[in-house]
Order: sequence, then C-alpha cells, then structure tokens
Amino acid sequence: MIIDLRSDTVTKPTKYMLETMMQAQVGDDVFSEDPTVNQLEKRLAKMFGKSRAVFFPSGTMANQTAIKLHTNPGEQVICDKYAHIYNYESGGASFNSGVSCRLLDGHRGMFTASQVVEAINPDAFYYSQTSLVEIENTTNKGGGACWDFSEILKIKEVCKANNLGFHLDGARIWNALVVKKESPQQYGQVFDTISVCLSKGLGCPIGSVLIGDEGIMKNAIRIRKIFGGNMRQVGYLAAAGLYALENHIERLSEDHKKAKELEKLLSELSYIKVVEPVETNIVIFELNNTIKEADFTQKLKEHNILIISMGSNKLRIVTHLDYTDDMHEKVLKVLKNLI
Ligand SMILES: *Cc1c(COP(=O)(O)O)cnc(C)c1O
Repeated sequence: MIIDLRSDTVTKPTKYMLETMMQAQVGDDVFSEDPTVNQLEKRLAKMFGKSRAVFFPSGTMANQTAIKLHTNPGEQVICDKYAHIYNYESGGASFNSGVSCRLLDGHRGMFTASQVVEAINPDAFYYSQTSLVEIENTTNKGGGACWDFSEILKIKEVCKANNLGFHLDGARIWNALVVKKESPQQYGQVFDTISVCLSKGLGCPIGSVLIGDEGIMKNAIRIRKIFGGNMRQVGYLAAAGLYALENHIERLSEDHKKAKELEKLLSELSYIKVVEPVETNIVIFELNNTIKEADFTQKLKEHNILIISMGSNKLRIVTHLDYTDDMHEKVLKVLKNLI
C-alpha cells in the first residue's frame, strides 16, 4: 500500500463519485448543450453570487484565462512572489497575455493593501500599466495559509480606487471556507473573477471553474477556445464536480485535523528544525542537519510513504481524501521511529 502525501491532486474518484459520473446526462459542451456541465456552471455561479461560470480542464487554464480577460499585452499583474500564476504556470502570464508580474514580498504568500499601493505604477507612458491584482487562498507555496478577510477587503478598496481587476486563485478556497467558516458569497462580492479547483481537496479526477459576472466573463469561452480548452461530452466530469460540491466540502476538516496532528508530532521530533504553522491540509517543514533531505525522503519511501521537496530545504506533506485513518496512524508511527 502506497501512502501518497505529495499532493491533494493524487486522489482517485470514490465508488459513489464514479457511479454518479456513469449516470451523467451529456451533450456537446461546445454547443453549450451538455446539461451536466450547464448545471455545474449554474450551481457554482449561484454559490459565489455571480452570474456566470465556465468549466475548464485545469486550474492553470482557468487562471490564465482570467489574466487574459483582465489585461492587455505590456501591462502588469501584482501578485505574491509565491504565486502559483508566477511560479507554477510555466511562465504563462507572459506567454499567453504578454504581461509581467510585479512580485510582492509577502508572508506565506500573503501581502497587505499598503504593499499593493506601493506596487502600482504611476500613470506615465514609460511605465507598464498596472491592471490586475491576484491573490491565492489558501496559499500553496505558503503552506496552506488562509488570508485574513479584512485585508482582502482593504485590497479591494485599493483595486477600486485604482481601477484594477481583482482575481482570486481559489484552487483551495474550499479549505479556507471550511476553516474560517466563510461563505462563497463573501468572496463573490469582492473578486471580479474566481478560479476554483475540483481536482484538489474535493477529489475529482479533473476540473476547474472560472466564476465572474457576465461582463468580464463574456469572452471567457473564446479565450478557452484559443487555449485549446473547449471540450465536448464532459458532463461525466462535471458530474464528479457536482457530487463533490455536495459530499466532499465539509469533510475537508478531517484532512485539516490529520495535518494538525502531523504538525504536532513533527514539531516534537529531534530531527526536525521547524514546522510552519498548519492551518489547512498542507504541512511544510525543514529538517535539521542531522539528516539529509534525500536520505529522509528515501527512508520514508522504504515505508511506502511519498512526500515532496519544495526546494530551499523545505519538505511538504499534503493530506487528502484518500489518506485514511489507518494510513495516518502508520505515518505517525513511522515518523516517530524513523531516526
Ligand atoms: C493546483 C493549483 C492550481 C491549478 O493547477 P492545475 O494543476 O492546472 O489544475 C492553481 N493555483 C494553485 C494555488 C494551485 O495549487
């Protein structure tokens, strides 16, 4: 039995999810005739209090489409130095939209409204025009940290005052909603566009959705087509999303509980230097110099436990739907006795 803690994307559909997928009504989504896709899009738009949502094959494509919708070539996007759109989307912002990223030196992937104010370029022809602010909640490279909503509201004021778009990379927004007891509507009220992933904590095999109001979303389907992301009978995949929205959100608290227990154990172990505070399902930690990173991950691998390195001596564990109580007990035991 392999215990795969590299990411929450490694989950496989549950029996019930698969059954729901098999029974989906489908049609050609390029003609907007897939009833299940239409249902998923309507459901998510309503959930976030917006008028339009569009189904995407990946979170990367949903984010890249959002950047394209908000910007013109030569303009600038403000985001954190840890941002997924900057680090893990293959330079897509420059490739697809011809924009540059102004990176903010935030804390765990989060920054303040005053940092945004300072990063906005003055209105002179020789500057790149700032047009979009992007944040991530929860933060991936920031270790699953959740934003303080009051700071988000302050940033929104800055965006309004400076006529900037505001995009949320909500790949793991579900984890934040559960932990902070926040509502999707409150996010819908603040952001112009929101991307959400169905294939992370929610356990779907594939799928992301970009949500916004009709005005900004008018061209989303055109951009998706340009990016090669229009799909046909994908109601089977949308059905997984509908099932997950119904059944897999509340249970994220179980992933969070396990991550907290891992944090507690790791922080007591002599060979661990530091564990970043755990808020959701991501645990980031550093080893002290009694053991090399490669030796540590190899030892875990010998126990069939997989984790990944984040670079700069940081290691990452992500808990998820397929990480059972039995696996958790085994991992705690192995970590305790590893060295
Ligand atoms: C996973 C992830 C995405 C999207 O990734 P895909 O693999 O393209 O679906 C976007 N943003 C963040 C923060 C993520 O963690």
